Amino acid sequence: MSGRCSCCNVKLSEYELTLKHAITLEYMDTCMKCLQGLNIPTIGREDLNQYEVDDDEYDAMDNQENDDDF
Ligand SMILES: [Zn+2]
Repeated sequence: MSGRCSCCNVKLSEYELTLKHAITLEYMDTCMKCLQGLNIPTIGREDLNQYEVDDDEYDAMDNQENDDDF
């Protein structure tokens, strides 16, 4: 493991380093930017995932609605 993306050579984050291919279970050694373009199914440590923030987005929308009431 080089610690860098095998595609664009950018330094990988802790989460990206733990990312594995969902089927082969091999370490990806690839950054999120490159993975998104490749559309490869991956599994990673969710506690390190800074990229999928769907829940946070819903919370933000709720907060905005509350702000309108004030
Ligand atoms: Zn990359």
